[in-house]
Amino acid sequence: MLAILHPNISRDSQAYRETMHFLENLPGVTLRLHEVQGATQKLTEVYLLGETKSLDKDEIAALPAVERAIRISQEYRILGRHLDDLRQNGFTYNGVTFDQSNLNIFAGLCAVDNQEHVDMMMRSLSEHGQECTRMGAYKPRTNPYSFQGHGKGCLPWVFETAGKYGIRVIAMEITHESHIEEIDNCLEKLGRPTGVMLQVGTRNTQNFELLKAIGRQQTYPVLFKRGFGITLNESLNAAEYLATEGNAKVIFCLRGMKTEAGQPHRNMVDFAHVPTVKRLTRMPVCVDPSHSVGTRDRAPDGLLEVTHATAQGVIAGANMVLADFHPRPEKALVDGPQALQMDELPAFLADIQLCHETWKKRQQLYRRLEGAE
Ligand code: PEP
Ligand code: MN
Repeated sequence: MLAILHPNISRDSQAYRETMHFLENLPGVTLRLHEVQGATQKLTEVYLLGETKSLDKDEIAALPAVERAIRISQEYRILGRHLDDLRQNGFTYNGVTFDQSNLNIFAGLCAVDNQEHVDMMMRSLSEHGQECTRMGAYKPRTNPYSFQGHGKGCLPWVFETAGKYGIRVIAMEITHESHIEEIDNCLEKLGRPTGVMLQVGTRNTQNFELLKAIGRQQTYPVLFKRGFGITLNESLNAAEYLATEGNAKVIFCLRGMKTEAGQPHRNMVDFAHVPTVKRLTRMPVCVDPSHSVGTRDRAPDGLLEVTHATAQGVIAGANMVLADFHPRPEKALVDGPQALQMDELPAFLADIQLCHETWKKRQQLYRRLEGAE
């Protein structure tokens, strides 16, 4: 059971004290408080855990500080979408809104290699009206002898360049909790010229201690990659670790599954799960066509397979696209073969917009023809 309190309720108020007294004394029930800071108001959610089956929802809803009570299922308590659950989804970070109905594109470098490429990439993004990008500084590599990313050394020039080109959010994978502090210290020192979305890579989907550490801070939202060898349910449960620690600003990213059945793609594209994740949870959903398709193969219709996969995700309602680009793919230190080139950016962006509009039109079509309008 979840009790959502009246917005901005004071903890000193009589209503709050009475309500908490009642809830705290329910036998076999423990409470977990979760605060959600919206644009204009703060919401307190009280999760009732344990023996909640026999609780009367109407009785909880009638408590003086409670606005609404929702019976929630056992799984994904915070991030999940439950019966009668009208809680808002999404969040705004550094002026950019992420929710289950809009769309943001994060085209950028898989791995930061040098200042010139970062500058070329960001300049091109800003010329095309983009405010978000991806920049890998800490790279989890299969082979210990491969380039591991420049780490904290590149952060100052990456963040400064982002500021110069008006980039507001950089998706950046971290592989250890100490990286949060490195990023935070650097941004603070530079006067926060840009923002960072902490990316959890597929190899760390079930690194629960890393997830808890990321969840303990609320400064940075999280881009959470689906585990490439586990079920969707296991990945969604792992994402919930972030929320139980206090950070529910989470975007769930589909990036393909590791199975030979996906060949000749690098991974088996799993974008049919876009609407499924939106049905099961309130998280905005991202698709990563680069790491799922993993090639620059071109179909006979003249389009790259990676752009076809992107279209499939977006037309099904994806809210974010994460894509590898590189100004000189042949020089890229990581994932060059799958990177799109700068002259492919305008068509890529326009194609995504087209698919996003088509997704909206598909909803109208079904509403109209199924008589709901
Ligand atoms: C990445 O996005 O750079 C990456 C390594 O992705 P994944 O964790 O999905 O393999
Ligand atoms: Mn990559």
